[in-house]
Amino acid sequence: MKIKALKGFKDILPDEARTWQWIEETARGIFHRFGFTEIKVPILEKTELFARSIGAATDIVEKEMYTFSDRNGDSVTMRPEGTASVLRSYIEHGLQVQQPLQQLFTIGPMFRHERPQKGRLRQFHQMSVEALGSGNPRLDVEVIAMAWLLLKELGLSVSLEINSLGCAECRTVFKERLVAFLDSRRDGICDDCRRRSTTNPLRVLDCKSEHCREQYQEAPSILDHLCKGCSDHFDQTRQGLTLLDITFTVNPFMVRGLDYYTRTAFEFVTNALGAQSAVGAGGRYDGLVEQLGGPQKTPGIGFALGMERLVLLLSQQGVAAPGTECDLFVATLGETASEKGFVISQHLRAKGLRVSIDHEGRSLKSQMKQANRVNARCALIMGDDEIARSEAILRDMATKEQVVIPLKGGLEEWCAGIINIINDTTK
Ligand code: ATP
Ligand code: MG
Repeated sequence: MKIKALKGFKDILPDEARTWQWIEETARGIFHRFGFTEIKVPILEKTELFARSIGAATDIVEKEMYTFSDRNGDSVTMRPEGTASVLRSYIEHGLQVQQPLQQLFTIGPMFRHERPQKGRLRQFHQMSVEALGSGNPRLDVEVIAMAWLLLKELGLSVSLEINSLGCAECRTVFKERLVAFLDSRRDGICDDCRRRSTTNPLRVLDCKSEHCREQYQEAPSILDHLCKGCSDHFDQTRQGLTLLDITFTVNPFMVRGLDYYTRTAFEFVTNALGAQSAVGAGGRYDGLVEQLGGPQKTPGIGFALGMERLVLLLSQQGVAAPGTECDLFVATLGETASEKGFVISQHLRAKGLRVSIDHEGRSLKSQMKQANRVNARCALIMGDDEIARSEAILRDMATKEQVVIPLKGGLEEWCAGIINIINDTTK
């Protein structure tokens, strides 16, 4: 019997991996431009870390975590998101001592035991960003602007929704009003919402049922309950976004599935991926560092973009990863040419060129086919006849133009000649 991958776990095959690399390279470039640096944290953590940060009554902790006992009987969990792990690391190593504003990002796999469907997997990947140590709304704007620029550079069109979830104080008042409202509508809402109205009332607001949504049109709005501090913060965030020409809509029903969010929450949404409408989401979590045992009053804000959904969206919007994979295919005929080609390949690779070569002594025709298959920009063709005349032929695979290259002097000179011509053909 053939062994297959687990349900909800997916191979990223070479063709798709190119798109992934391009997304990651673009993201790294942009994150660096904003002063963010990469941090790599473990995939496995103590279960308690996630229970304490994400919240015991959230979907993730209640039913989605890959939690098991390791061989010592300790409860461990494969991370369902990045923020908790990055904050754990920040606290453990006292990163704020070196630099009070820490701007970090990490890229890697996350695990949630959900029902697999398009854009929803059990192992998926996030690019996740955290800025710790400033509560200034300018930082909210900057973090959103960074995600916005990345999506723009990837050529994607998605829309931005923002909301404020207030702080512990204003949310308490809002929660009471919301619970009272939900009680008055008990008979008109779904079982899930009825249950959540006691365990995690805010979450009912983003229930997917049309019927519930209709009811909630009349629910109290968090935005009418913000305290002065939260309300000013939200105003300044909106003003900052406008200042940077970033268009957004305010969605008072967006609440996010994790308990730690405070104040600004945002999502990048699309209607191109069916029910999986969010390609990325984030928000402020001003109490989380302290809650995890770190220094008091350390505000933070971050977001996570889902790689799988970005890849899906790119292919739907017809955006292709740029660039070819191979600069030069070395095609040789005969023993002597084959050996020369082999040496030239190694030398050109050392000079930074991407070079492929045939080792199987195939016909020239099949070597040319192979050159097309690997998407080579040029082919270097050498038979023993050319070698006898101290020549080689360089062919531009797109235009089919050929030039004769003299192989005079030493290896260094040949290669310099080849590189010059290849660089010219791409101008
Ligand atoms: P959703 O509403 O789709 O369940 P979420 O609120 O659970 O998303 P977050 O925890 O905020 O998502 O994660 C941020 C991003 O990670 C999402 O916007 C999405 O792109 C991606 N993501 C989350 N869960 C999955 C999953 N199971 N499979 C693929 N991508 C995911
Ligand atoms: Mg989810």
